[in-house]
Amino acid sequence: MDFNFSDQHIMLRDSIRNFAAKEILPIAEQIDEEDHWPDGMWEKLAGLGVMGITVDEEYGGAGADLLSAVIVLEELAKASPSIALSWGAHANLCCNNLNHNASHEQKKKYLPPLCSGKHIGALGLTEPNAGSDAVNIQTVAVKKGDYYVVNGTKMFITNGTVANTIVLYAKTDKEKGARGITAFILDTGFPGFSVSKKLKKYGHRGSPTAELVLEDCMIPSENVMGEENKGIHVMMSGLDVERAFYAGEAIGIAEACLEFSVKYAKERVQFGKPIGTFQLIQAKLADMYTQLEAGKILCYRAAVLADQARRGGKGTEIHKLAAASILFNAEMATRVADQAVQIHGGYGYMLEYPVQRFLRDAKLLEIGAGTSEIRRLIIARELLGI
Ligand SMILES: Cc1cc2nc3c(=O)[nH]c(=O)nc-3n(C[C@H](O)[C@H](O)[C@H](O)COP(=O)(O)OP(=O)(O)OC[C@H]3O[C@@H](n4cnc5c(N)ncnc54)[C@H](O)[C@@H]3O)c2cc1C
Repeated sequence: MDFNFSDQHIMLRDSIRNFAAKEILPIAEQIDEEDHWPDGMWEKLAGLGVMGITVDEEYGGAGADLLSAVIVLEELAKASPSIALSWGAHANLCCNNLNHNASHEQKKKYLPPLCSGKHIGALGLTEPNAGSDAVNIQTVAVKKGDYYVVNGTKMFITNGTVANTIVLYAKTDKEKGARGITAFILDTGFPGFSVSKKLKKYGHRGSPTAELVLEDCMIPSENVMGEENKGIHVMMSGLDVERAFYAGEAIGIAEACLEFSVKYAKERVQFGKPIGTFQLIQAKLADMYTQLEAGKILCYRAAVLADQARRGGKGTEIHKLAAASILFNAEMATRVADQAVQIHGGYGYMLEYPVQRFLRDAKLLEIGAGTSEIRRLIIARELLGI
């Protein structure tokens, strides 16, 4: 067992860390306040060569492993979870999904502009009435000649307002439940696609979240990803990777909160002493560190195993491990961010200090990519074999 990152992972981590400290952290509060990331940010990120980080090199990607993607996500999240979330939806939910499930022709067409950052990607699964119960989606795709005519509404879609390419799920056989779902590659230029609303959020402000409408949207048959009515396999394999991946965002949030808190505990003086000399503050810092370190082991292990499983490994161990990683780390990030606000006292509650932003951002990780409740159900079902 080797608990160290490889030299390549360390180089990647350091380059993203430097970029995030220089280009993102100084404007992170502005991104949150304006609920918008500044022009040029996406292009700067693309300049790092991480837009198709896990995509095969022949399609313009970096051909790296999932652990590398987790490292990038973690470092981006330390500065701005909002930027991390949007990058993750693009690089993982869209590009990584296409890399594993699309045909060679589809990859040749869609991946190069996504990997260069010219295009932005998203994933369209959730609907107004189908969140946790994802197989109950109501969006319908009916085959007519060389096209599918698609009708429905997608809800809470990250990058929805700016995306060019969306991995979209729709029912092609309403009677067959999970076995009637098909995955499509949607170009947002197709007729019948529109963004109906940009949604206002409590956290992750700056990462655009949208409601999307498909009204007689014409998707060519050649844009079916995988086979008709076999979309559930695409969806399920993607969910394990998504859970293993997004745990990295929780790690980044908790790391940032710990760093800000240690600094503040050394600087803030009360009763004539830095508050870091008080044992009740020390206990909080020690608990934050311990939970973070425990979370890292789970996160990195799940990332490595999820990658192996997707590349042809056997067994369902990864279902519960990926669910456990995001379950533990999402709740850990919220607890750690909450402690960070407490250590900062009244200043922690003020918008000019970053810890309140991290607390608001952390909460999403208990909801997106399957809620904490659903993650517990997945783990329990795997343990019980039911
Ligand atoms: C900011 C943001 C970004 C998102 N980005 C995307 C995206 O890019 N693409 C995408 O497709 N989706 C996205 N989502 C959607 C996200 O995956 C869903 O919100 C999530 O799966 C939960 O679905 P829901 O919101 O409909 O909640 P519901 O499923 O309605 O759940 C409500 C509550 O009931 C609980 N519950 C539901 N079923 C059970 C059960 N069987 N047992 C016990 N408790 C249960 C839930 O845990 C929760 O507490 C995003 C959401 C947000 C908020």
